[in-house]
Amino acid sequence: MRALTLLGSTGSIGVSTLDVVRRWPDHFRIYALVAGRNTELLARQIQEFRPQVAVVETDNTRDTLIQNLVALGLPKSEWPGLLHGSQARVAASTAPECDFVLSAIVGVEGLEATYAAVRARKQIGLANKEVLVASGEIVMRAAHETGTELIPVDSEHNGAHQALRCGDRKEARRLILTASGGPFRNTPLEDLASVTPEQALKHPTWKMGPRITIDSATMMNKGFEVIEACWLFGFKADEVDVVIHPSSSVHAMVEYEDGSVMAQISTTDMRMPIQYAMTYPERWDAPVPRMDWSQPRTLEFFPPDGTKFPCLRLAYETIRAGGTASCTLNAADEIAVGAFLNGEIPYPGIAEVVEETLARVTPRNPSTVGEVLDVDRLSREVARRVVTERRKR
Ligand code: NDP
Repeated sequence: MRALTLLGSTGSIGVSTLDVVRRWPDHFRIYALVAGRNTELLARQIQEFRPQVAVVETDNTRDTLIQNLVALGLPKSEWPGLLHGSQARVAASTAPECDFVLSAIVGVEGLEATYAAVRARKQIGLANKEVLVASGEIVMRAAHETGTELIPVDSEHNGAHQALRCGDRKEARRLILTASGGPFRNTPLEDLASVTPEQALKHPTWKMGPRITIDSATMMNKGFEVIEACWLFGFKADEVDVVIHPSSSVHAMVEYEDGSVMAQISTTDMRMPIQYAMTYPERWDAPVPRMDWSQPRTLEFFPPDGTKFPCLRLAYETIRAGGTASCTLNAADEIAVGAFLNGEIPYPGIAEVVEETLARVTPRNPSTVGEVLDVDRLSREVARRVVTERRKR
């Protein structure tokens, strides 16, 4: 029986992870549930999964969680330890009772706890892509030092992880990540200026949290994935390609030295890669319906249009710039996406705010996660200023 700490239990990945746990009650149990502010859902998860520890964002949120537990009628004697804040997240991820950490908090809020879990040699399923985008060098150095393997949950990296099992890493020449192309794949460039948040939030194939959905529309998400792939698998930026593949059945492909290409294909349901990460190196019974090969199926691939997706170019530029450039990319993007969703900037403004922020924040070479978080804060401040300046124009 493996005990899990689930960072981000109330999110899209968190809920899918609990569904996998629900399928395997004799193999997994929850040690800690870690969430932000959705105390109503967290209380129900506590009632069902009976963790030893539950962590929320702030002291006030903890009070609300208590009200929710009372409203559910769960006797106090059956409550888990109720904690809040970043230190509690770290403690939940490094406790001796925990064997496996599923990292699925959105944003850099998940970085410290995930890094601590790596240092504590926990097995890790990594969904939170900002961990490697913001702090890839430090986290991967710790992983190499401690011998901790990060098993990717993100479907493309999970697919790459599987395709890389077909040969020696030294024989792998190129990684190809697929992208659905998002809701605006066929929208003419000139129409993007009038795109609304509602339109951008309609992802054609995946149901995800709001930030990653907008990042999928701009293809910044694919840019983050390229950065993450470079760190996870040791590829250089020019060894990772992106292709548009609207049906999202092929998640990633690895091209080997002899020209053979290994593709990983599966249903578009995150429970699949989540379960792979939880059971690795074994494979257990599929948690989702299998692909139906009795139906006609077309697999189409297109090169991405660089003029329509400037965020992808910016991501590649930050890998080449090195240091904290991709930390700034992530921080600026989060501010820009928030500003777009609030109606402060138009859709093309997302890439413009990110590019301007990157021009204003000089990359550093941090040696600690604390320094990375300082750059993250600074980059957010700069990005907010850029948004304000643009609104005044
Ligand atoms: P959601 O927005 O659905 O969920 C985010 C989770 O993080 C929630 O549980 C939220 O808690 C929690 N959270 C936010 N801030 C804090 C905080 N300060 N302290 C503790 N918990 C916090 O995101 P997703 O599940 O979609 O994505 C999670 C991560 O996985 C992201 O990094 C994303 O890029 C990555 N990912 C997601 C995929 C998907 O299909 N959804 C695919 C691949 C990667 P609460 O809601 O309680 O506030």
